[in-house]
Amino acid sequence: MTNKKTPHLTTQAVRVGLCSDKQHRALVPPIYLSATYALPGLNQKGEYDYSRTTNPTRNTLGRAIAELEHGHTGIITNTGMSAVLLVCQLLNPDDTVVIPHDCYGGTYRLFTHLAARGLFQLDIVDQNDAHALSRALSSAENRPKLVWIETPSNPLLRIYDIAAIAKQAKAAGALVAVDNTFLSPILQQPLGLGADIVVHSCTKFINGHSDVVAGAVVVREQAIGETLSWWANCLGVTGSAMDSYWVMRSLRTLPARLRCHQENTEQIVEFLSHHPAIKTLYYPGLTTHPQHALAKTQQLGFGSLVSFELVGDEAARQRFSEALQIFTLAQSLGGVESLINHPASMTHAAMPDDAKITAGISPALWRLSIGIEHPDDLINDLRNALATVAP
Ligand SMILES: *Cc1c(COP(=O)(O)O)cnc(C)c1O
Repeated sequence: MTNKKTPHLTTQAVRVGLCSDKQHRALVPPIYLSATYALPGLNQKGEYDYSRTTNPTRNTLGRAIAELEHGHTGIITNTGMSAVLLVCQLLNPDDTVVIPHDCYGGTYRLFTHLAARGLFQLDIVDQNDAHALSRALSSAENRPKLVWIETPSNPLLRIYDIAAIAKQAKAAGALVAVDNTFLSPILQQPLGLGADIVVHSCTKFINGHSDVVAGAVVVREQAIGETLSWWANCLGVTGSAMDSYWVMRSLRTLPARLRCHQENTEQIVEFLSHHPAIKTLYYPGLTTHPQHALAKTQQLGFGSLVSFELVGDEAARQRFSEALQIFTLAQSLGGVESLINHPASMTHAAMPDDAKITAGISPALWRLSIGIEHPDDLINDLRNALATVAP
């Protein structure tokens, strides 16, 4: 009797598409850059015809991410935002989409501006407020079609209960989409918790080297996959073969990178939690985090994003950011290099001031994306910079 088990996610990620080349038995799957494909003959269809529609390299990556997320179809898009835009194609003008009050700045901007043009109705709620959510889902004039979840949230790392929200959404007949960018399929599996759709900015952890901008949509059901694949081709938002190749290369090290990211993060959180310059520390791995217990059951790890409020004023913030030598002040997250972000003026600048206040984004707030450098160097860097604020 053979002992054939489904391989672990780590094994699946490492071995994406290996040994699939029939022509030369290349270990690594070749990249197909061709824009077009010769048809077998007049009125005959080939497997591929035009690369906006389908491309072997992009398809391999789409299948790989779909497998890791345990979904049916994976569609690779040219940015994370076009992945969000693609999901919006499921909405008609009468349909309501319920989004969180603290979602990614670009997602907030896209949903609010498309809704302002009448493409769909929008309800912005605190999804940890069960009453607010059920009000949004049961409102008579609303036709709730989609609930958008981001967990952990950006930048405060609030945790939302995917299974509980999905249950409420299902009862109201709405689909559930989860932006899984912050954890990747290695640390969170939304489809298994009842979501219908998973969205990624592959720019972040999945590519992980800050050199590609790309996105992905994974769906559980074939029918939705067909609709969204049709729209991806129609809109022209599919990813390039070259980008798909790089993302596939990076996917092989995703589990190993995440292990290192998380080990470093644990040490840094421990250091920050005792520092007098830190007013409030946000990390789901802290037992004091309000949804720590939920994070423990819902996630397979606490991730490598940490936020904190710094004591002091604008001058202290200037001193702090100028003193950092390793952490780079930059947009984005999830790369091998450590970055620091000031949400109010950077990632969330597109949010109106009152929405920032509702989302809890004050000028004192900073977000770290912990990379895979040596943890001692990272801690030293923070120690030196924090000393300019409070010794
Ligand atoms: C970056 C990001 C996006 C947008 O992705 P791009 O690749 O920058 O277009 C969407 N959601 C989250 C959570 C993100 O961090």
